[in-house]
Amino acid sequence: MLTAHIPQAYVYKSYAQHNFRQIPQIGRLTQEQITDIDVVSHVLPFKSNNYVINELINWDNVPDDPIFTLTFPRKEMLTTVHYNTMLAAMHSPASKDEIKKVANEIRKDLNPHPAGQLEHNVPMIEGHRLTGMQHKYRETVLFFPSQGQTCHAYCSFCFRWPQFVGMDEWKFAMRETELLVKYLQQHTEVTDLLFTGGDPMIMKNKIFASYIDNILDADIPNLQTIRIGTKALGYWPYKFLTDDDADDTLRTFERIVKSGKNLAIMAHFNHPVELSTPAVQKAIRRIRNTGAQIRTQSPIMRNINADADTWAEMWRKQVNLNCIPYYMFVARDTGAQHYFQVPLVEAWHIFREAYQKISGVCRTVRGPSMSATPGKIQLLGVSEVNGEKIMTLRFLQGRNPDWVARPFFAKYDENAIWLDDLKPAFGEDKFFFEDELKALFNEHISLPETVNFE
Ligand SMILES: *Cc1c(COP(=O)(O)O)cnc(C)c1O
Ligand code: SF4
Repeated sequence: MLTAHIPQAYVYKSYAQHNFRQIPQIGRLTQEQITDIDVVSHVLPFKSNNYVINELINWDNVPDDPIFTLTFPRKEMLTTVHYNTMLAAMHSPASKDEIKKVANEIRKDLNPHPAGQLEHNVPMIEGHRLTGMQHKYRETVLFFPSQGQTCHAYCSFCFRWPQFVGMDEWKFAMRETELLVKYLQQHTEVTDLLFTGGDPMIMKNKIFASYIDNILDADIPNLQTIRIGTKALGYWPYKFLTDDDADDTLRTFERIVKSGKNLAIMAHFNHPVELSTPAVQKAIRRIRNTGAQIRTQSPIMRNINADADTWAEMWRKQVNLNCIPYYMFVARDTGAQHYFQVPLVEAWHIFREAYQKISGVCRTVRGPSMSATPGKIQLLGVSEVNGEKIMTLRFLQGRNPDWVARPFFAKYDENAIWLDDLKPAFGEDKFFFEDELKALFNEHISLPETVNFE
């Protein structure tokens, strides 16, 4: 009913591998860049929309523009070998199916499930594996509603890409809230339910509200916070402004708040540009008016946001818009990680420098943090003790809650990019949690970490 009054730009238009050449601004790219997008998007998922294209990307700054990099695949995101293999397949007389097979082979090399997400953290109830859920940290259950397994646009660094490229056996999803409710009722230690995806805010309100209302109707006393992990504010703020279910979505938010529960929108912003448009600012105001909080998080990524000024500006802008900075994450080892990765020590330098530039109201943020097998681990800093250079770390979340907030020490290694690269300091042969972690896992074959940077 509103649609008639909405200017064209507000009607969602999606671009993907099959139609990206129709983007008017694509004419500003070279033929080579266009071919690269075509080749790489056969392997890594690519999807964008008219808001990102018209309001976020600065086309005068392409190809270096951070939002362009965040959105469009490029040659450097694949290794030369993978790139050439894909290019050759596309130029061969191979059928569509054969090309797909080549793409899938390459994807398998890219560590598509860095977490062994499918094996671990899947809760059980009455003998059923709840594959649409994850329960890793005592207080918080993640829920992957089956209709929320895509996004308004895709981030080129995203590790959830197996969900988007139709590698079905890697897909999480759960159709029913019934088992979820049962699980929450039985697990009274759980205080937080986190809707994640993909992006749950891709769901039409009718579906989203049915999940929420079932949960609210069950009146689960231990459930105190409902969180929604979303990039919709960054990629499609019209979800909360002019989409035909915008008002209804906000009303669902209101119902959560009125029920006495805390509603936290865990918003994913990678760059201050995403906070700069009138659309996002208005969407934030509308969400805040429902009584919801907005907390913000992002990974630190080379070629997108790997400098202190960008982070300081982002946190300050977020606080000015009444959002609460929450996490800075370290990129994980999947997909095009070689293109985006920032070593831990460098991430800490950037964090520290940015943190120094902002006042205390912005310092709710924690990081840099790795969502690793044993837990969320923060690099607190680099120091020297008795002549040995060390890295001090601590758990922000642990598989065993008792690990949390206990500092531990690794040998200084400026090239390390992940927990696996670190060795204990002071001549010790293992970290304090390792034996216990092995015991927790000994029924499993491998030790991958969990999904998710929310
Ligand atoms: C990050 C994360 C959470 C939430 O952790 P908080 O520190 O409470 O935000 C829950 N489960 C998993 C698997 C996570 O990675
Ligand atoms: S990072 Fe989030 S918004 Fe971006 S593609 Fe992945 S799931 Fe979607």
